[in-house]
Amino acid sequence: MANTPITVARGDGIGPEIMDATLRILEGAGARLDIEEIEIGEKVYLAGNPAGVAPEAFESLRRTKVFLKAPITTPQGGGYKSLNVTVRKTFGLYANVRPCVSYHPFVETKHPLMDVVIVRENEEDVYGGIEYRQTGQVTQCLKLISRPGTEKIVRYAFEYARRNNRRKVTCFTKDNIMKITDGLFHKIFEEIAPEYTDIENEHWIVDIGAAKLADAPENFDVLVLPNLYGDVLSDVAAQIAGSVGLAGSANIGESIAMFEAIHGSAPRRAGQNLANPSGLFLGAVMMLVHIGQTDVAERAHNAWLKTMEDGVHTYDIYKEGVSREKVGTREFAEAVVARTGQKPERLKAVSYKAGESGGATFAGRMARTSVASDKETVGVDVYLDWTHGTANDLGAAVSKLSGDGLKLTAIANRGVKVYPGGATETFCSDHWRCRFVSETEGRAITHAQITQLLSRFADAGLDFIKTENLCNFDGKPGYSHAQE
Ligand code: NAD
Repeated sequence: MANTPITVARGDGIGPEIMDATLRILEGAGARLDIEEIEIGEKVYLAGNPAGVAPEAFESLRRTKVFLKAPITTPQGGGYKSLNVTVRKTFGLYANVRPCVSYHPFVETKHPLMDVVIVRENEEDVYGGIEYRQTGQVTQCLKLISRPGTEKIVRYAFEYARRNNRRKVTCFTKDNIMKITDGLFHKIFEEIAPEYTDIENEHWIVDIGAAKLADAPENFDVLVLPNLYGDVLSDVAAQIAGSVGLAGSANIGESIAMFEAIHGSAPRRAGQNLANPSGLFLGAVMMLVHIGQTDVAERAHNAWLKTMEDGVHTYDIYKEGVSREKVGTREFAEAVVARTGQKPERLKAVSYKAGESGGATFAGRMARTSVASDKETVGVDVYLDWTHGTANDLGAAVSKLSGDGLKLTAIANRGVKVYPGGATETFCSDHWRCRFVSETEGRAITHAQITQLLSRFADAGLDFIKTENLCNFDGKPGYSHAQE
């Protein structure tokens, strides 16, 4: 069978050691790989490339489409962009898959039955990094949740569950508060779930869901989460399963995929033959499944499970009375190689179906990029930076700007209505939202009316910092209302 070309980066800190160990185990299991090596991370950053990855390296990724990446060190100080975020966004790696499995009783955990896979949306939410300081007091970060982005990740989660014989997919959102953004994520989950009649589905509000996950993870199977919740909860899940040092991660796009450990470069442990290569190795197992080398993935993964079971452990999981032998990075890899062909006896052996591919090309193609057919602009919110008095003072000034078919309906501060009829106790920052709608109830407004309104604000000496159009989609409001 032909070798599969892959791109490898050895990274920083413990990266080179755990990469050597991982590649040694893969070689021992008979992996059929042609490796192209690229340089990423600290050296590249310090050589003056703020992305931490050179343009030539991108060419290798475009060629092989498979990236096995060791952790890197992000230099302290500003100006350096996260390499992970750059690679994810450049190549549209929309799904981050993180299995969090307990290896009880061989690795200490409070949750012996835990076997959870977190499927985290990887491109949207607040990770667009679109932030503004808007006034002296107030900063803002844009949270973007799109229909195609959510359809892709939700469908990926269900397809993953089906391919891997999982029984349930759970979604966490905070749509009791973020009714439009998290509400869309939840709605799409409810739309897609019934297509998978063989798989149970459920939704929890993220706060209580996270509490249940931390308390009784055995009740969860596959979890699908928007980016931020997925980022936080996948570390929690990996840690309570046993150790973040044991978890691997796959970042899947429509054509390119990246595989890594979830931990960082642990610089203090570097160069001492101490680090546990298991996180990167388990990332590499997902890579083997992805490229269709399921026979090798199964052989290597079972040999690794047998090594864990035999109590051959690196320092981070070594425990007197449970472990049998404390080994270094290299010795651990050799111990796994020596067990190639063996299966664990007490831990559950893995089996990957021949021909199975972890690839996700189906998902992007199947996203329906439907948009509402009927969009109508019915008002505008004008945001002000203003510090010259009370809500009533501002209300009096802004009311005078009504006209030309638009009228002020309310002023809000940090989402709470403060004019007309606000509570005197409400704290007001310097960031005010003035809502204008058509003088005639329900009538659409024009862009010209908005620009003329802004001219009136400017003429009145009011510092407007942004506007948000209020639109109805198919007759339904596409905007939130202030808390009264
Ligand atoms: P870290 O995950 O590198 O290390 C935290 C601690 O966990 C270490 O001190 C060590 O005790 C332990 N640890 C982690 N991996 C281990 C392993 N394989 N074997 C044994 N022990 C292990 O987190 P950090 O110290 O916050 O970050 C160090 C650097 O890594 C930073 O520059 C950070 O930006 C970077 N980082 C990179 C990635 C990545 O490349 N994907 C991810 C996270 C952090």
